[in-house]
Amino acid sequence: MDLLILTQTYFLIIEVKNIVGTITYDPEFQQLIRHHENKESVFKDPILQVHRQRQQLQYWLSKQSLIHPIPILTTVILSNPQSIIKKTPNLTTGTFPLIRPDKLTSKIKELSKLYTQALITIRDIKKLAKNLKNMHRENDENVLNKFQLTYEDLIKGVNCPKCSFIPMEQQRYTWFCPKCYLNDKMAFQYALLDYFSLINSSITNIQLRDFLQVSSRNTAKRLLKSANLIQLGTNKGTYYSPK
Ligand SMILES: [Zn+2]
Repeated sequence: MDLLILTQTYFLIIEVKNIVGTITYDPEFQQLIRHHENKESVFKDPILQVHRQRQQLQYWLSKQSLIHPIPILTTVILSNPQSIIKKTPNLTTGTFPLIRPDKLTSKIKELSKLYTQALITIRDIKKLAKNLKNMHRENDENVLNKFQLTYEDLIKGVNCPKCSFIPMEQQRYTWFCPKCYLNDKMAFQYALLDYFSLINSSITNIQLRDFLQVSSRNTAKRLLKSANLIQLGTNKGTYYSPK
């Protein structure tokens, strides 16, 4: 949750997305498609995201012994002034759920006209705010989401542990850095660790080939076996996780 506004008549959850490029919102398939520098990437639907946050907040509030349930509203702001926002043709403008930052004030004014019944005292709001702050955790969402990147944005290949050059060249039994001439048999292990912390907690043979830019299935298999991982699943469904 990026921002939460507490008023006496409603609460408003605001999610801020800073995405560069041309953004198309497609509620039918619950996705946000970004076109940027001739590349297309897909982001999760931010509307679904705020709805999930609303459910969580509702649940939390239900444990807070409030007298009246208070309406929880949501909005998503696209904060990058350079981004171009488009909608899929089946969406009418009136229901378009993403707004620019400068529309927030008028949105709040609008809501204050719609929601007029005070359901909570200022004192209770302060108490709630304090409790919320106490349980606030920096979200553990992964680094890619944090910087609005996708898998496609990453430079693939093994990076040199000494000079960070990417990609190292794979030689028969080692990895060679054409920049600093380092030979390191286990260099790919660092890339694997990156994969586990950035992308997923497990990896398949085909995913390893793409991420490390290895062409042969057997080489990928050999690398996975030598990386001291746990092997799970069988045949085509085989995947590997760190121990
Ligand atoms: Zn190097």
